[in-house]
Amino acid sequence: MTDLETADLYEKAIDKFGMVEQLVVAIEELAELQKEITKAIRGKANIKNMTEEIADVLIMIDQVTRMYFIENKDIEVAKDYKLNILKEIVEKRD
Ligand SMILES: [Mg+2]
Repeated sequence: MTDLETADLYEKAIDKFGMVEQLVVAIEELAELQKEITKAIRGKANIKNMTEEIADVLIMIDQVTRMYFIENKDIEVAKDYKLNILKEIVEKRD
């Protein structure tokens, strides 16, 4: 699917189901990924399931981003800032 087709699909999903429903689905998908991560911590990692839940979460994050008109460039700026904090923390541990 092209980026344009994906964007169109997200718009249709948000229009058809509404923001509240899609936000609830986003929360559910985050919980499903949490469950896969906790299973992995308990020694029962299922990489196929974890991969699918990561994909679900990324799809819902894309929709939440669209709902609130959050620009990718702003996410990249925030991400860069957070990565620098992580870098400092990691280097302090050395
Ligand atoms: Mg899921």
